[in-house]
Amino acid sequence: MPVRIRITLLFSLLVMFILGLVCGSVYLFSYTSRLANIQRKLHNRAISVGGLLSQSEVFSNELIQRIESYTSISFSNRVIQAYDADHRQIYRHSSIPTDSISIGPAIFEEALKKGDVFFKSGNKEAVAHFYKHENHRLFVVVAGEDEEGIQTLRKLFNILTLSFLGGVVTALLGGFFFSKSLLKPIKKIADDANEISTHNLSTRIHTGVVKDEWQYLSNTLNSLLDRLQEGFDLQRRFIGNASHELSTPLTSISSQLEVALQRERAAGEYRAVMKSIHQDVLHMIKLTQTLLEFAKASGTPGGLDISLVRIDEVLLRLPAEIAKANNGHSISFEFDELPPEEDKLLVYGNEELLFTAIRNIVTNACKYSEDHHAAVRLVIEASQILISITDKGAGIPESEFENIFQPFYRVHESRSKEGFGLGLSLAYRIIKLHNGDIAVSSKVSEGTVFTISVPAAGSL
Ligand code: ADP
Repeated sequence: MPVRIRITLLFSLLVMFILGLVCGSVYLFSYTSRLANIQRKLHNRAISVGGLLSQSEVFSNELIQRIESYTSISFSNRVIQAYDADHRQIYRHSSIPTDSISIGPAIFEEALKKGDVFFKSGNKEAVAHFYKHENHRLFVVVAGEDEEGIQTLRKLFNILTLSFLGGVVTALLGGFFFSKSLLKPIKKIADDANEISTHNLSTRIHTGVVKDEWQYLSNTLNSLLDRLQEGFDLQRRFIGNASHELSTPLTSISSQLEVALQRERAAGEYRAVMKSIHQDVLHMIKLTQTLLEFAKASGTPGGLDISLVRIDEVLLRLPAEIAKANNGHSISFEFDELPPEEDKLLVYGNEELLFTAIRNIVTNACKYSEDHHAAVRLVIEASQILISITDKGAGIPESEFENIFQPFYRVHESRSKEGFGLGLSLAYRIIKLHNGDIAVSSKVSEGTVFTISVPAAGSL
């Protein structure tokens, strides 16, 4: 069922309930007051008739009938009957001569017990009253039609029914138009969102001027679009940079081959060309491997092989790896007192990716320092494991701290060293994937400290 209809129905049901409650209460109150009123009148009349009848020495039946007929009439078609203690009728008076009320023994009995018994006889309201005064014992029955009261009640019923129906119809119509205006912004937001595709990702949803939930929704969608656009831009730049990095050695290979093929050459010349091409191919292999690692680290942890990894064992793999990549590079360890419990050294993660992240930072420390040496320190804390990599190299200006973690970014002074500008951004992504962080502190000409922090498996 469309939301618009649902809102209309809910609103109408609520109005119907409130109106029903109000109209019902008003009617019930009027009904009970009318009944109480007529019963009070019947009771009073029964007492006055009883009073007159008990003075039979003063008032004869004819006189009482005359008095009765002069008494102001508050209910019509009156019938008054009186009985002695043995239930024999001793008095009767009615507006219509043939009218009478038949009284059964049960009513006499109840009247004797309670004093008053109210009952209905046809359209008439009636009371059977037990009158007791000095040595007089009488049963007085007074009955009459409360035409005025019934008519007023009927009118009230009609007015209340009309008000109820009018209220419900107004609620239905009002609810329909109200929900239309309420949901109008949703349609506008949906229309705006439909217009947006990858080609015009910079377009935004109109937020309107009124500060309401729709504006909040539009703002939320707009910030989602901001993040998407940022992601797309980043990806576009990444692809551009990666293609550029790949096309450079390819162009170099192509031109070297072109020159070599222009004429017949000596074997030594061919060998030199092939050696150079081999260098370019190795460079490309390294780049594509890094790009593959990047793609792996850009996913979600769900797609990775996650296991418990002993961080000290990962670190101990470094020296061999660093020396294999470059003979002149070296590494020293400083492990603070390691805890005897093995589980304090464990982190949840992908061992190969963690190794790649740490290796990249250690390689940088060796690459960008004169002594080509990196000092690695391991600190075990209650909830996290800290690995700091220190070098005594050229350092990084503070203004570059943010940039160095961007893919393909290289500080100008470092361009002479081999690299793609991917090592740190890859390490950053990997550590973030493991819910950790990388902090950098550096002093130009003094050295740099990178600190990796990852949550300890025991704290998760
Ligand atoms: P690459 O080393 O391939 O250039 P990275 O992403 O690993 O790329 O590093 C980005 C930049 O950060 C480097 O170009 C370098 O300028 C700077 N950098 C990283 N580590 C260090 C370091 N230990 N000392 C000085 N500069 C560094």
